[in-house]
Amino acid sequence: MNHPLRRLWTDACDFLLPGACLGCGLACPWEMGLCPLCEASLPRSEQPVQLRPLGAPWAISVATFNYEAGLPELLRRYKFSEDLTAGRCLAKLCLPTLSAAPLPCALVPVPLHRQRLRERGFDQARGIAADWAKALRIPLLDSTLTRERATSAQTRLSAEARRRNLHQAFVAKGSCPAHIALVDDVFTTGSTAWAASEALMAAGAQRVDVWVVARVPAPRAPMTFDQNCVLKPSRTSRGGA
Ligand SMILES: [Zn+2]
Repeated sequence: MNHPLRRLWTDACDFLLPGACLGCGLACPWEMGLCPLCEASLPRSEQPVQLRPLGAPWAISVATFNYEAGLPELLRRYKFSEDLTAGRCLAKLCLPTLSAAPLPCALVPVPLHRQRLRERGFDQARGIAADWAKALRIPLLDSTLTRERATSAQTRLSAEARRRNLHQAFVAKGSCPAHIALVDDVFTTGSTAWAASEALMAAGAQRVDVWVVARVPAPRAPMTFDQNCVLKPSRTSRGGA
C-alpha cells in the first residue's frame, strides 16, 4: 500500500464521508465499498466467457474474476461473515460482463441444502442472483431448484469424487423456462454446475448457462527462459505423456 497517490487519496477521503475500503481498510467514501486501487487490483478473468467442456450439460460459463489474489478473501467475508457490502460490490462489478452475455429467461441460484442453510443462516448464491436479477431485469426463480441431499464438503475432493458426491443431489420443480442462467459464487471443477444443470434440463430447460463471480483458474504451465531469453511455458515432463 505504498502507492504514491495513497496519502493524497486517504486525506481526500477522510475529508469526505469515510467508510472502510473492503480491500485495504483505508477510508473509502464510495458506495461500491472498494477504493479504485483495490478494485483495479482484483484478478479479472482474461477469458470471462468459456464454452462448455465436452459433454457438459451447460452451454457457456461466465465469470468476471479469477478465484485468486484478493477474491477468496472478499467472497469469504460475504459468505461466512455475511458482509453484504462485499457481496453487493462483487455482484455489481460483474454486471458489465454479464450484460454482454446472452441474457437468459430467468436466473436460478444454486441452492444450499436446508440443513446447511440453517447452520449458515445465509445463502450466498441467492444473494448474488437477487442482485443480478434486479439490475438486469431478469426474473429470479429461487425456489425452482432444491438440494435434496446434504453432500459432504467438497473442497478436498477430486473432480470425479465431486461428481459422484453430487449425483442426483438437485431436483428442479415445476417446468423450467427454455433458457436459464444458473448462479453460484465460485466455479471450481464444474461438478455442482453439472448436477444442477442436469436437474434443470430434466425439468424442461433447453439451455443452461452458468454465471459465477469467480472461476478457479486452470493451472498454468510454469514459465522459463529459453536459450534466447524468451519467456516460454516450460516442458511439464521429459518424454512422458
Ligand atoms: Zn482499498
